[in-house]
Amino acid sequence: MDLTWSEREERFRDECRAWLAANVPPEPLPSGDTREGFALHLEWERKLYEARWAVVSWPPEYGGRGASLWEWLIFEEEYYRAGAPQRVTQNGVFLLAPTLFEFGTQAQKDRYLPRMAAAEDLWCQGWSEPNAGSDLAGIKSRAVRDEAAGGWRLTGQKTWTTRGAFCTHLFGLFRTDPQAERHRGLTYFLVPLDTDGVTVRGVGRLDGDEGFAEVFFEDAFVSDDCVLGGVNEGWNVAMATTSSERGLTLRSPGRFTATAARLVELYHQRAREADPSVRDDVIQGWMDAEAYRLYTLADVTNIVEGRPPGARSSLNKIWWSELDVRLHETALALLGAHGELVAGAPEAVEGGAWMKGYQFALSGPIYAGTNEIQRNVIAERVLGLPRR
Ligand SMILES: Cc1cc2nc3c(=O)[nH]c(=O)nc-3n(C[C@H](O)[C@H](O)[C@H](O)COP(=O)(O)OP(=O)(O)OC[C@H]3O[C@@H](n4cnc5c(N)ncnc54)[C@H](O)[C@@H]3O)c2cc1C
Repeated sequence: MDLTWSEREERFRDECRAWLAANVPPEPLPSGDTREGFALHLEWERKLYEARWAVVSWPPEYGGRGASLWEWLIFEEEYYRAGAPQRVTQNGVFLLAPTLFEFGTQAQKDRYLPRMAAAEDLWCQGWSEPNAGSDLAGIKSRAVRDEAAGGWRLTGQKTWTTRGAFCTHLFGLFRTDPQAERHRGLTYFLVPLDTDGVTVRGVGRLDGDEGFAEVFFEDAFVSDDCVLGGVNEGWNVAMATTSSERGLTLRSPGRFTATAARLVELYHQRAREADPSVRDDVIQGWMDAEAYRLYTLADVTNIVEGRPPGARSSLNKIWWSELDVRLHETALALLGAHGELVAGAPEAVEGGAWMKGYQFALSGPIYAGTNEIQRNVIAERVLGLPRR
């Protein structure tokens, strides 16, 4: 693996760094998991799109720059280094889009990708149900064929749908063959949330934001062209999405190297009052973020050379989610009692961002498949250990 960036890559880095320096809002936007914050984030997403930075690795006909995976990583590093807003379009852009590129018909790509890039269609993920989280194949929501109308009738309930309350579309799994073996009777659907028979109800979170939603389907009709990747083929299609979710695309290293850099900065400001043992945690956090970056460079080398990550993406997921918790815990240890001050408190450091980040980091070992499940995947499919 050669860690030298080419001239072209250096130019790309300079170009995105200059654009971000001129355009990133000087003050952090309010949380994108609130209705007002989401609207402000959308304005930012549209600005990104107009400057062709929204989906850099996509082909130009869908709004991208045809950038390589390496350039995408560079963009992400610069994006987080510049302190740019969290991407509220991430479920569409980073999770659904790679699956659409792989499994979508030409008509589906043409219909959905440009609107997704432009932040006009806003996608949420509808997989979890009240009794189907880790056991995703246990879902009960069903789709029944309506021959006469040329489509499907959806019934059931999804839960924990991130930003579902603010989105326009949902991608989700529905059971289409109740007689088939659990994994085999599922189909992946693309559903406009304004369809008759769909009800979206917001759910509050631990940190007070209302970003989650429950989504109810009561005989909601969708046409045949809302099936992604074939009837009863949903499990395979969904596994392509989870590989993106756990691996590279959802959480690139730039996010964590930027957090580690902020932590080092915080240490410089607070070193005198800090417990000496925190110094070691700061160093460890910085090294762990760098380790993730180096691991990712090796991962991208593998992908570029034709060795896709598959089950190895579970290693990434455990690493970035546990790292995020450690970085925030260390920051809170540095801040002491100040760490408990939230946005709006006069003496809150960085607007209470460390506490907010900590609360969100706690969910990292749960979403995108819990870390217990990832450890099972690694045991069985990477190490070849026996199932228990
Ligand atoms: C911030 C956040 C955002 C989310 N966003 C979305 C979203 O947008 N769309 C969506 O569909 N879902 C979303 N989820 C839901 C998430 O995917 C589920 O919470 C997760 O899959 C776990 O499912 P569960 O909550 O039903 O827990 P359960 O499956 O009931 O698990 C409970 C506990 O038991 C453990 N466990 C279960 N089975 C095993 C096993 N076989 N071996 C070892 N341990 C096991 C789990 O690891 C966990 O610790 C989100 C969750 C969070 C926290």
